[in-house]
Amino acid sequence: MSEARTTTTPPEVDRVAASRAAVAARRARAAVKAGIAAGTRSPLDVLRAAYEDPEGVEGRLRVTEFLVSIPAIGQTKCTRIMDELQISPSKRLGGLGRLQRRRLRDFVADWVADHGGIGDRLVVLAGPTAVGKGTVAGYIRTHHPEVRLSVSATTRAPRPGEVEGESYFFVDDAQFDRMIAAGELLEWAVVHNAHRYGTPRRPVEEAIAAGDSVLLEIDIQGARSVRREMPDATLVFLLPPSWEELVRRLVGRGTETAAEQQRRLETAKVELAAVDEFDHQVVNVEVGEAAQKVVDLMRPRKGRRHAALRQDLPRTDGAPQS
Ligand code: 5GP
Repeated sequence: MSEARTTTTPPEVDRVAASRAAVAARRARAAVKAGIAAGTRSPLDVLRAAYEDPEGVEGRLRVTEFLVSIPAIGQTKCTRIMDELQISPSKRLGGLGRLQRRRLRDFVADWVADHGGIGDRLVVLAGPTAVGKGTVAGYIRTHHPEVRLSVSATTRAPRPGEVEGESYFFVDDAQFDRMIAAGELLEWAVVHNAHRYGTPRRPVEEAIAAGDSVLLEIDIQGARSVRREMPDATLVFLLPPSWEELVRRLVGRGTETAAEQQRRLETAKVELAAVDEFDHQVVNVEVGEAAQKVVDLMRPRKGRRHAALRQDLPRTDGAPQS
């Protein structure tokens, strides 16, 4: 015996609840737009929230609504941008494909940078232990002098060959405490349960103010802190080609004891799970190539973006190539 099912309109009480929820969602979206327009909410932060939760408030925003809420982008400019980015006007932020997401983010990062914000000027390179962050950063230091590398403060002792003020600022615990208390550090963390490492704030702020790009090579906790402090920063995650390769690199460099290696591998597993929190991923197969990819993300200002958009990005929406 089957129960009779009705497919008629939902009961009054459900309809009332649904329409209340719709009104609340509309209000929440309006608040996001108002925040962008007033400059209290970074458009990059809104994009990040939308990409993370496509069905959330930000994710349900139409791309067009999002764009016109950015100061100085009116309807005409919006239409042109949508055209250049090859996104159809009906799309919502959460409904964009991978390439469209990337194009929109790149565009917005450029816009933010061109309007006095951080945009892609502050790039954080993080990744699991032994993935080769230090090597990639070192390569960038040597081959890309136009990129400013932040020099961290640390409480660990210098290793042979390390130079004060170049490799690190080597400080003792009391000095590190003083730097924290004085607000001199943009972020800091205890790394590998051992020593404290932190990014001096002033050089980073000065470089950004001067229009330069700065690269921070720090651990994942530090990357998270930078995101909280400066939501516009670009976070890059360096990945190993495979787990086996990561193990090989960690064991192969022979700088840690067996117990320490084991501990770092456990940490690496947890760290790898953070990859989705980052804006970009770069696989470190070959150091020069990985370094180039990171440098390419630190795009030079002005002029480049639109030309690049027109040139080589394939359409993903099935529309004919123009
Ligand atoms: P090492 O002692 O091998 O030079 O560095 C150990 C770890 O500390 C690396 O993973 C490096 O990314 C991280 N690290 C270096 N400087 C900083 C910093 O300023 N802040 C944070 N959070 N981590 C850092």
